[in-house]
Amino acid sequence: STMPPLLSAIANAGRHGVLAKSAVVMERLGQVDMVALDKTGTLTEGTPHVTDIRPLPGTDLDETALLALAAGAEHPSEHPLARAVVDAARERGLLLHEAVDFSSVPGEGVTATIEGHTVQVGSPTRLLNPAAQQPHHRAVADLESAGRTTVAVLRDGTVVGVLGIADRLRPDARATVAALTELTGRTPVLLTGDNERAARHLAAEVGITDVRAGLLPQDKVAAVKEWEADGRRVLVVGDGVNDAPALAAAHSGIAMGRAGSDLALETADAVVVRDELAAIPAIVQLSRTARRLVI
Ligand code: ADP
Ligand code: MG
Repeated sequence: STMPPLLSAIANAGRHGVLAKSAVVMERLGQVDMVALDKTGTLTEGTPHVTDIRPLPGTDLDETALLALAAGAEHPSEHPLARAVVDAARERGLLLHEAVDFSSVPGEGVTATIEGHTVQVGSPTRLLNPAAQQPHHRAVADLESAGRTTVAVLRDGTVVGVLGIADRLRPDARATVAALTELTGRTPVLLTGDNERAARHLAAEVGITDVRAGLLPQDKVAAVKEWEADGRRVLVVGDGVNDAPALAAAHSGIAMGRAGSDLALETADAVVVRDELAAIPAIVQLSRTARRLVI
């Protein structure tokens, strides 16, 4: 055929289930020599579910009341953890409280007013002073050692309970990490806003040892910039609003399409449409081949 090599690379990428936004993108993907992977929604399926509901001793809330409170505050959020909390409440047939004054902070959590109380749901380390000896520490440590993501629930500034949340690893995660290691000569790095214990638990299952946890969106950018200042050409793969700045800052960015946030899809250079991680090494390989044809 007379199709130019880069155009045919885009067409081939489409066959692998990857939407590349331009020919330039295909050319750049072939240059990456390091990959940074997000955890939630990227290495994992992104459909987490609530596994543990722990009201703290001394509060007036039982499991049901704690879940209903958290779900009321999470209802307006599009974060996968928020979906998990709302779904758990719905499965139990709970009536959600009406939330007003909703706001969210990427990498941290949400705040809303429910029946006159300020309710916060989010990262225990972000919302609570980690240095202070607090009643939730034991519950959080137990759950995180078991690989759970934990979220704290606060009412008027006091922690009233902890939820444990688990997400399944994508079936092709381990093979994809191996393929990317082979292609770039370096094991991918895990970048996550989640807690260190849960992140290391999951990283070990896929063969990743370099784990950067507890990161805010700007921390992900800082990590990428540091590697690139060392001469690396970094490919970031992510799905969330919290990944968008890093997707934009990196040499190349790929978003996971199916559960990905609009902002991640807009910011990335390419989108995995078919929701298969294995498409990523395939596309890097493809664009290297195309480059050789062009040069
Ligand atoms: P990741 O980088 O793994 O995709 P995020 O940056 O989206 O994770 O979230 C990091 C952490 O921030 C979560 O583990 C959670 O503790 C907290 N968080 C963020 N948004 C929410 C939310 N809507 N509800 C509860 N917790 C949240
Ligand atoms: Mg994510």
